[in-house]
Formats: sequence, C-alpha cells, structure tokens
Amino acid sequence: MDFDFTEEQLLLRESARKFLEKEIKPAAVAYGDARIPREMFPELFRKLRPFSYMGETDDLITAALLSEELARVFPALEGIMMINSACARYIQAGPHDLRERALPALLAGEKIGCVAITEPNVGSNPAAIETRAVADGDDYVINGRKTWISNGELSDYAIVICQTDPAKGKEGICPIIVERERSAYEARDLPKLGLKAFATSELVFTDCRVPRENRLGGRRGAAGAGLKALLQGFQWARCRVALMALGIAQAAFEAAVDYARQRRQFGKPIGAFQLIQDMVTGMATEIDAARLLTYRAVHLVKKGLRCDRETSMAKAYATEMAVRTTSRAVQIHGAYGLSPEYLVERYFRDARTLTIPDGTTEIQKLIIGRSVLGLSAFR
Ligand SMILES: Cc1cc2nc3c(=O)[nH]c(=O)nc-3n(C[C@H](O)[C@H](O)[C@H](O)COP(=O)(O)OP(=O)(O)OC[C@H]3O[C@@H](n4cnc5c(N)ncnc54)[C@H](O)[C@@H]3O)c2cc1C
Repeated sequence: MDFDFTEEQLLLRESARKFLEKEIKPAAVAYGDARIPREMFPELFRKLRPFSYMGETDDLITAALLSEELARVFPALEGIMMINSACARYIQAGPHDLRERALPALLAGEKIGCVAITEPNVGSNPAAIETRAVADGDDYVINGRKTWISNGELSDYAIVICQTDPAKGKEGICPIIVERERSAYEARDLPKLGLKAFATSELVFTDCRVPRENRLGGRRGAAGAGLKALLQGFQWARCRVALMALGIAQAAFEAAVDYARQRRQFGKPIGAFQLIQDMVTGMATEIDAARLLTYRAVHLVKKGLRCDRETSMAKAYATEMAVRTTSRAVQIHGAYGLSPEYLVERYFRDARTLTIPDGTTEIQKLIIGRSVLGLSAFR
C-alpha cells in the first residue's frame, strides 16, 4: 500500500479546504444546530459539485480526502451528501424512467433521498426486518414503520428495505424505491443530541403502492441479493462515517491547539503544562492512527476487495477516537468548552452520534471478532 497522496490529490485537498472555509463555513455557523432550509440545498449542492460528494468519481481516495474536509467544516452537510449519494446509487439500478427523472434532481440537490433500514423493533439485526411488501397486481403494497432515517423528513425518494416473503427469512429481504410524489409516506422529525442540521426521522408506510419494477433486481430479480448488496454497501458507508469522525476530530484538535497556545494561567500558556500536552499528543496520535486505518479501508474498498474486518476497524476506532478527542478538546477549553459559543461543544455532541449508525461499535467489534476467530456471534 502506498502511503503517499498524489500531488494532484494534495492540491485538490488544499483548494477544497480554502473553498469550504470561505463558502460553506458560514452555513455551518448559521445552521450548525438548526435544520438547513430546504431551498438552500440546490445552492449548496452547486457549490460542492466540483468536489464529487455525490459519488461522481471512482477515485475513492480523492473522494475520501474531500469527505474528511467537508466534515471538518460542516459534518451534518457531509452526512446529507453521503445519504443522498447512497440513495442515488440504488436508483442507478432502478427502472430507466425513474432513473432519468430522479438522478439529475438528486445530483442537483433539488430532490433528496434516504435509505430506510432501521425499524422500531429492528436495529442492529437487519435480517429481522418487519416492514412488509406484498405483491398485488403490478404493484407492491408496503406497510411498516422505519425510524432514525437520515434525510427522512426531507426525502423525495426512499430506498425502503422490505420483507417480501417472511417464509424465506433474510432471502425475502429487498430494497424497493419509493417515490414520495407518487407513493405517499409520512415522516416525522426525531430530535437528537448532535448533527442536528442533519434530519433523522420516522417514516410510516400505510398501504403504500409502488410499481413492482421499483423492487431492485426487477420483477424476476433475486430477493435476498438485496440484503447481500446492502451489507456490501456498508463497507463504503462505514468508511464514510469514519471520515466524518476524522473531520470532526481534526476540527476539535485544531481548536484545542489554538486555545492551548492562547489561554494563559499561572503566567504561562496552558499548552506549556505537561498534562495539557499529554492530552494534545494523545489527540494527535489517535487521529493519525484512525486516519491510517480509515485510508487502508478506503484503499481496499477501492480495489473491490472484501474488507469488512478493515472497514469495521476503521469505523469503530475512528468514531470512538472522535468521542475521546472532542471530549479532550472540551476539557482543554475549561468552562468555555461547555458553552455553545465555542464550536468544541458542538463537535463533542456531533462526534457522540457517530458510534451508533451504520453498525454500532459493538456490532463492528463482533464483525472483527468473527473475522479473527472464525466464530460468529450472530447465529
Ligand atoms: C445519526 C444517525 C443516523 C442514522 N441514519 C440511519 C439511516 O439513514 N437509515 C437507517 O436505516 N438507520 C439509520 N440510523 C439507525 C441506526 O442504524 C441504528 O440506530 C443502529 O443500527 C442501532 O440500532 P438501534 O439504535 O435500534 O440499537 P439496538 O440494535 O437496539 O442496540 C442497542 C444496544 O445494544 C447493543 N447490541 C445490539 N446487539 C448486540 C449484540 N449482538 N452484542 C452486543 N451488543 C449488542 C448495541 O451496540 C447498542 O449498544 C441512524 C442512527 C443515527 C444515530
């Protein structure tokens, strides 16, 4: 594995950093803890278009560098782009006319997508999905409830993971594209601790009729292939959550270093005290360790190799690291670290949310344990 980024990647990262500071940071400051108004999305997406946040590039290393940079400035917006691009990837495999109308609008931020797996009774074990899709003539009729769905309330398209045949167990699970304008569903906002600008919602499907061809894999396509594709999709999603954690940790680290240089107690900058230096060096070392694990995982995903062990290591380590790092940044700021006037307060809350989605830390550990021991905790 080559540890060097190319000259081109480094230049792009530098220009992205400058651009994001100037063009996106004002929105992060204004909407850090509030929902971004819907009408602002096309403008934000237009600004971000050159940086391929909607998956326009196959160079995943460059995509990773840019995701980390956006998360450093506005992690909730990186979350919105991440989910929108995941929805677009599913739609790419959908029926032609749906693709034609949905993809340009999703890329432009005129429409927003979500991916709905979690349910009130189904969190860490997606094989137990209860939302039912029943074939009826040319349609599927969907009934069920999804929860904690990112972008849910804003969404125009939902990729809904449904059970089509309970007798087949996980073989009956498949994604179905639901177009809200034609197949209405309800959405309700669920407030949470961090990443508040990034909506998480409950979705309710009541006799929701969707053309059969919207089932991914098509009319005769293999159900169950859906669950497999879903689990494979987690590899990139876990990298992207790890990158989001890295961006937040990096921002908190930079704020802590600045503060430790400026804040004086006992006649010295607090950064001159060994106990503060211990916190700063711990932050720097752990951020580096998480970055190495994450870019190794991205490199393996880019090569198309199975890498659930490495992506789980990256996701678990980077998100737990971000919790420790942002907590130390709060500590270094003293009481000011607890004030919403200082960004570290928000970084801490944002980082805390990331150990849960796309597989909790415990689930990542069980995946790593299965790979190390050859023994699965899941069955
Ligand atoms: C910010 C955010 C965004 C999200 N976005 C989406 C989204 O877009 N789409 C979507 O479908 N879902 C989304 N989710 C939901 C997320 O995927 C689930 O919250 C997650 O899978 C965990 O499910 P749960 O919350 O029901 O916890 P549970 O599965 O009920 O787990 C509760 C606790 O038990 C632990 N646990 C569970 N099983 C085991 C086990 N076998 N061994 C040891 N410990 C175990 C867990 O680690 C956790 O600590 C999001 C969540 C958050 C916080």
